[in-house]
Order: sequence, then C-alpha cells, then structure tokens
Amino acid sequence: MRKIVFATNNKHKLDEIKEITKGKLEILSLSDIGCYDDIEETGTTFEANALIKAQYVKSKYGYDCFADDSGLQVDALAGKPGVYTARYAGEKASSDDNMTKLLAELSGNDNRNARFKAVIALIENGNNHFFEGTIDGIIAQSKSGVGGFGYDPIFVPNGYSQTFAELDIAIKNQISHRAKAVKGLIEFLSNHFDV
Ligand code: IMP
Repeated sequence: MRKIVFATNNKHKLDEIKEITKGKLEILSLSDIGCYDDIEETGTTFEANALIKAQYVKSKYGYDCFADDSGLQVDALAGKPGVYTARYAGEKASSDDNMTKLLAELSGNDNRNARFKAVIALIENGNNHFFEGTIDGIIAQSKSGVGGFGYDPIFVPNGYSQTFAELDIAIKNQISHRAKAVKGLIEFLSNHFDV
C-alpha cells in the first residue's frame, strides 16, 4: 500500500482521513516521521496555508505528503472566521471559546448560512496539486452534541436537523468538506498509482 505523510498533528483529522482512506493508503502522521515542529500558518488563504505545511515536510524530511487547511466561512460575517477559524477568539482559544464568540456575533441575526471548506495540498513527484471540498449548512442558536471536534456542536449541515457533533461520525465522514477534498485526492492518486 502506498505510504504518504499527512502533515498534521490533529488527531481528529488523522482519524477521519485514516478512516476515509482505509485500505487505499497508509497514512503517516507527523509524529510517525519524528516531526514535532509547530508549522506556522502565515498564509491568507486555505490553499496557501495547506501548501506551507506540505512544503515544510517535503523540504525538511523529503517525503511526498499532503496537508490540509480548513475552516468556517459565515455569510453574515463576510466569510469570517476563514483562515482564522482555529484562533478566532485568540491564539490560545479553545473550540468552546471560539464557538461562544461566533454565537455572540451572530446573536439576533437571521442569516445563519455558513460553510466548512477544506483544501488539501499534495506535493507529489515535485508537483503541487490542490483538492477542495465544502459543506453548506447553518450555525445553530446554541451548542448541541459531544461528537467530532472544533465547531461541530454549532454546525447543522443542510438536509439534516442535527449538528455535526450529534450526527453519527460515519455520516459526517461521508458528507464533510474534508471527505470531499479527500475524495479528490484519492481519485487523483488512483489515476496515477495503484491505490
Ligand atoms: P486548521 O485546518 O487546523 O488550520 O484549523 C481549522 C479549524 O477549523 C479547526 O481548528 C476547527 O476549529 C475548524 N474545523 C475544521 N474542520 C472542522 C470540522 O470538521 N468540524 C468542526 N470544526 C472544524
């Protein structure tokens, strides 16, 4: 099975991607290759940040690899928090702090439309490739559910009445922004390699 580094330290993302690629790719994490560095995300787009992380691993460790960058875009906030999703309420903010801030900013606002977006940058054989996925939904009035991570307790995907944190993780893994981006990655790899 083809081995490839996923340049992340986020266990939730790793578990999700390992589940989605099960039987098709062997995913190595940053700790699997001995990388414990904090890779700074200095880009202003998801694409730029994903590429920064993948390039870091490629240049320092030599592995072909992919990295993702993702976040939430809220229509009523002109696409914010965007690339600042993870640190919306401050550099050391918890997911709970971030959700509390977002709910306060949307308080009384009827436009709850939002989407999660994920971009995967793959460096393979010296070339850069990008794969994107989005899922549209609404921001709930309050937090519900304990599954998933990040903003899952306040995001209700279109077509469902429960938040990502209430839905079965198997459902989230079929419809999520990351699942769609990974699907593009796997299609690409299967056209080029035997995965
Ligand atoms: P990054 O992609 O690690 O830079 O951070 C993106 C941030 O977006 C995460 O820290 C989460 O807060 C949020 N996020 C990304 N994907 C999801 C998801 O599937 N559910 C909930 N929050 C997410």
